[in-house]
Amino acid sequence: MKLKETFVFFVVKWANHEVTQSRHKVSQSFIYFAELEVENMIEPFNDEYFMKKAFAEALQAFEEGEIPVGAVVVSKGKIIARAHNLTETLNDVTAHAEMQAITAAANLLGGKYLNDCTLYVTLEPCVMCAGALAWAQIGKIVYGASDEKRGYQRLATKAPHPKTEIVGGILETECRELMLEFFKTKR
Ligand SMILES: [Zn+2]
Repeated sequence: MKLKETFVFFVVKWANHEVTQSRHKVSQSFIYFAELEVENMIEPFNDEYFMKKAFAEALQAFEEGEIPVGAVVVSKGKIIARAHNLTETLNDVTAHAEMQAITAAANLLGGKYLNDCTLYVTLEPCVMCAGALAWAQIGKIVYGASDEKRGYQRLATKAPHPKTEIVGGILETECRELMLEFFKTKR
């Protein structure tokens, strides 16, 4: 048994033991927490896992002198597209990470709609990208840092597709600090 598995095993064993021994002395919330921990350890392919992959793309953008925003598209638990901001390289204001990711994912799937896909992006999408993601009918959007100036939430709350599930704030600190670091070097 690996170290991680051993730990999980003992957490479960201990939690069960406590419940049977002291008859609900251990609060249900703790048991829930323990189960949550176990779930996270067994299933590493969670939002944080894929956001780290998007973050790696953002780092790549940083190294290329691009505003560090990265994205990945996940379908059925697999990454089918990776992209980062290329506005400087391509001299194209529309070359945001999300736009690249939508095109790459649709090419790979051979269809324009991304209903079964989740897009992970390190920064809250702008109005253009939220609109493009709506056209693609993306199933879910997970973003890292909020964008108070250009984010769709401030400028166009209805831009995303009404059926798209949206989660924000995953690895928020890391994603935000990377942006701040980038603009510090530009000053
Ligand atoms: Zn955008």
